[in-house]
Amino acid sequence: MYDVLIIGCGITGAATAFELSKYRLRVGILERENDVADGTTKANSAILHAGYDPLPGSLMARLNVRGVALARQLCTALDVPYSPCGSLVLGFTPADRETLAELHRRGTANGVPGLALLTGDEARALEPSLSPAVTAALHAPSAAICSPWEYCLALAETAVRNGAELHLETAVTGLYPTETGWRVETSRGKLESRWVVNAAGLDAQAVHEMAAPRTFTLHPSRGQYFLLDKSEGNRVGRVIFQCPNEHGKGVLVTPTVHGNLLVGPNAEPVEGDDTATTAAGLDFVRRTALRSVPSVDFRTVIRSFAGVRAVADTGDFVIEEAAPRFLDLAGICSPGLSAAPAVGEYAAELMGQAGLPLERKADFQASRRRVRFKELPEGEKARLAAERPDYGRIICRCETVTEGEILDALRAPIPPRSVDGVKRRVGAGLGRCQGGFCGPRVVELLCRELGCSPGEIVQDRAGSWLLARETKGGKTDV
Ligand SMILES: Cc1cc2nc3c(=O)[nH]c(=O)nc-3n(C[C@H](O)[C@H](O)[C@H](O)COP(=O)(O)OP(=O)(O)OC[C@H]3O[C@@H](n4cnc5c(N)ncnc54)[C@H](O)[C@@H]3O)c2cc1C
Repeated sequence: MYDVLIIGCGITGAATAFELSKYRLRVGILERENDVADGTTKANSAILHAGYDPLPGSLMARLNVRGVALARQLCTALDVPYSPCGSLVLGFTPADRETLAELHRRGTANGVPGLALLTGDEARALEPSLSPAVTAALHAPSAAICSPWEYCLALAETAVRNGAELHLETAVTGLYPTETGWRVETSRGKLESRWVVNAAGLDAQAVHEMAAPRTFTLHPSRGQYFLLDKSEGNRVGRVIFQCPNEHGKGVLVTPTVHGNLLVGPNAEPVEGDDTATTAAGLDFVRRTALRSVPSVDFRTVIRSFAGVRAVADTGDFVIEEAAPRFLDLAGICSPGLSAAPAVGEYAAELMGQAGLPLERKADFQASRRRVRFKELPEGEKARLAAERPDYGRIICRCETVTEGEILDALRAPIPPRSVDGVKRRVGAGLGRCQGGFCGPRVVELLCRELGCSPGEIVQDRAGSWLLARETKGGKTDV
């Protein structure tokens, strides 16, 4: 019998597991995919928003501002790439000036520190690449960027190190109330738990309706992006937004923690988890971004991708006990990444108020380190390579990732099971050639460590096999 079963291991589920693993509880996390952070958490803008956008008094506002403050400490403690770069919202027209003043008012009411309204020239003094058409800006020094995958992995891994049990490739198919809590039916059998937490992202409405009548509807909204080469990585030093509109925070131009430039997203309604990119969507992103930063060199694009937001028709995060001992963490669209640790804290608080015994563990450990070979001083690299020759073998040339780092990831508490799982953990395949060089070597290492054949290795989710062979009937199969 579990005390709490969390459905979904994106950033919301991982942050909740992290928080609950501080207490003497049996906690399980059920994730349908073969890895953590494989839903919306893997494809977003990676911004830890300052918190001037959500309406004062909303859950989004409170949890966003608290979440970014917590993220600063957490990313340091858990060794998650993080940069406190700040952000600018640009204004071009008199109407934009009013919007910026309104965002300043909201931010002040939400408790966002250090907000300042700037003239166009003051903004260009901070960011020389901004368009001459910019006439005003809102500066938010507390905004930051991070690696969302590593953030989620670090939280989940720390929860597991502190006793939480992660069940991958385990889809929840049914929820049935019992005298003591819930019977949870999954693709791998039945489990019992006192509490169930619904952190199922785009599927949170479906999971909610397994336990309670419908109280909200999710509207998936897709956002498309360009990722540009590191040669464009210094084009801007801060996150550059335009004024938000009815479709959300708009197209931004931002450095990434890996040294690239990210441009996007648009916002368009889609059916479910449709992460296809389209020529029209990407063209809109390109044209809109050039309005902010006209010199962005789109010839250096190395990848395009899309993510899908789970937007609730309530206009806010849906965080409530929808049935006895069934807690929804639903409608966690942007700023869900920013708010995550505060959502986890709030979830624990609500369950505690409803009777879950929250007794602190004396031995909770919240620290984590991983070797990033290319960032080490030369002497340290030599020492490490002498001690462990696998640190001397470079597997990904674009990102300078060593075999040792990949083996460390494969032997960690939550090892990758796919080529993209390795990419998300150590960066092999993130660079200019997008895995063209290192892909086969990563497959070899996965086979060696997982004890399987290349035909069983997937690029990312189940079924995305890399190799195919002919079967007798002439059909292609793995
Ligand atoms: C284009 C875009 C840009 C964004 N930019 C930002 C940003 O810059 N800053 C910010 O703060 N936020 C941003 N967000 C929002 C942020 O990405 C999300 O709020 C956050 O990732 C949601 O995390 P989650 O854990 O709730 O959902 P997910 O990451 O989707 O995780 C849900 C998990 O539940 C699993 N699951 C679903 N159903 C089941 C089931 N039946 N059984 C078991 N497992 C199940 C899924 O496989 C998935 O892994 C953006 C989102 C998008 C799409």
